[in-house]
Amino acid sequence: MTRAIMCAFVVLMSAATAGQPSANLQLKYLGTAGWEISDGRTTILIDPYLSRLHMTAPNDDVLPGDPRPRFTPADVAQSDTAAIDAHIQRADFILITHTHTDHALDVPYIARKTGATVIGTESARNLARAYGIPADQLIVARGGDDLELDGWSVRVIPSLHGILRRAPFLRRDPNAPPQPAVIPIDVQAPLHLNQFAEGGTLAYLIRIGGRQILVFGSMNYIEREVEGLRPDVALVGAMPERREIHDYTSRLLKAIGYPRMVLPTHWDRFNVTYDVSQAPAIERLQSFIADVKAASPKSVVTVPKYFEAIEVR
Ligand SMILES: [Zn+2]
Repeated sequence: MTRAIMCAFVVLMSAATAGQPSANLQLKYLGTAGWEISDGRTTILIDPYLSRLHMTAPNDDVLPGDPRPRFTPADVAQSDTAAIDAHIQRADFILITHTHTDHALDVPYIARKTGATVIGTESARNLARAYGIPADQLIVARGGDDLELDGWSVRVIPSLHGILRRAPFLRRDPNAPPQPAVIPIDVQAPLHLNQFAEGGTLAYLIRIGGRQILVFGSMNYIEREVEGLRPDVALVGAMPERREIHDYTSRLLKAIGYPRMVLPTHWDRFNVTYDVSQAPAIERLQSFIADVKAASPKSVVTVPKYFEAIEVR
């Protein structure tokens, strides 16, 4: 290596460790609340759920004629490993906001396949552990933690799930027993779908490549826990349940300083395969986009396309 090249290398390395903006920080939408964030060195997955099971979802009934086997909550949980293998090749970390099926179902398979370290609540740990993911691949994070990792860091933010009270396809028998709140430490694999539970909800402020990305996985937040954060990018839950929360969009964007990029998350119809048109979900999303534009006219709002890179400059 010549001296000039070595110097260039040293400058590049110190720029990266000093948190200078990276030229190749990318986000990819995996559907539901799932994302891949990469700076070319570290790959972080958020709530990766690629199975998109054929079952009733809070805002979407099943697609008539879906040829896949249909699941009910009493069924044994099963990942669509072909869908995962088609799209997930590597991951260094998996961050879980909460452990409902549409966030956590595929975590055991992806953690085993990639060797990624799973960061999440005790419920996330208990789930992964039940499927044999070793303890040195699991970090139980609590709201308030601020973790220094290899080349990036993450502030773990106490958060709230949001309210499914009026979700059209989840009206339950009023006399039914309440849903479990956590996945217990002694849970055995394989889980049935109705053994998944919220387990508490976290948000994450990811610092990587000289940028800050604020990640939510559901339709709520605790204002005082995000007040003063200044992310470059905010991934904001956009399903209709957000309307259950007072002044949801503008209160959040004000608290976090009107980020220059806002990406809606958890907006698509996630009980159909990736090739089914999302036109009705994009239509449903327009009121969220209008809310963002009204509250924060300078923010750029992008409707992500599945697996297409979005550059963070
Ligand atoms: Zn949920």
